[in-house]
Amino acid sequence: MRVAVTVEEIRNQVKEWKREGLSVGLVPTMGALHEGHASLVDASVKSCDRTVTSIFVNPKQFGKSEDLDSYPRTFDEDCRILEERGCDMVFAPTVDVMYPDGFGAEIQITTDMVNQLCGASRPGHFKGVCTVVGKLFNIVAPDKAFFGEKDAQQLAVIRKMVKDLNFDVEVVGCPTIREADGLAKSSRNVYMNEEERNAAGILYQSMLKAQELIKNGERSAETIAEQMKALIATEGMAQIDYVRIVDGLTLLPTDEVKAGDLVALAVCFGNTRLIDNFTVSF
Ligand code: AMP
Repeated sequence: MRVAVTVEEIRNQVKEWKREGLSVGLVPTMGALHEGHASLVDASVKSCDRTVTSIFVNPKQFGKSEDLDSYPRTFDEDCRILEERGCDMVFAPTVDVMYPDGFGAEIQITTDMVNQLCGASRPGHFKGVCTVVGKLFNIVAPDKAFFGEKDAQQLAVIRKMVKDLNFDVEVVGCPTIREADGLAKSSRNVYMNEEERNAAGILYQSMLKAQELIKNGERSAETIAEQMKALIATEGMAQIDYVRIVDGLTLLPTDEVKAGDLVALAVCFGNTRLIDNFTVSF
């Protein structure tokens, strides 16, 4: 497995693969890899001839008071995991490579979907995500790109960007990988102390509760969200940002729950902000 740091290196390699008629999958990450990331690599390795994983902690998607400086960086261990899973190339640019002096472009989705859910509490976040992912698509020119359903709003926003700007790439969503108690795996889980980590298990319980309510015929989005919040609130450490049910494509709020809607939540335990979601199916 090779590591490319410059745009030229990765482009030359991908061009060579394309000349040989090989398909290329891209897995964009910020590193600190876990089984969730590895499952995206597995999906790419399975359906593409060659897999590129990018590792780049993108400053543009962090707010001023967010955890850019403390974000975990575990490059050597990341490379070990990627090699083991059959990744062919790592693209690990520096901030200067991605945003050289005088850089002045951005990609912004202008529909209301970016103001919903995490967009409300993280202004500018999705502009940062779209800008870096758009650049990665232009640099790597993958046939397919793999993203986790765990970051459902990110996935929806990227699909919208690809559609509206005609990026020639197939976006593949991959299921959320969870810990034994159902907590979604996340690079940020390491921030939590033992007490917070144990309390965080309530998030998955609240989603199971919602699924049970829906299975029993409940269709009021408000009732379902309220019951989830009440359950989460039984953990004194939980500070709820939002629990909301939205249309799976537009991300606008739903009154009456239908198949394809997204049940999404963001909750803080101490300083750690966790997100999770599931898609409604009847
Ligand atoms: P990140 O490094 O947090 O930016 O995540 C990189 C990619 O991994 C994104 O597409 C995430 O949605 C995906 N991802 C993160 N956690 C999980 C998980 N638990 N299961 C599946 N995919 C995940």
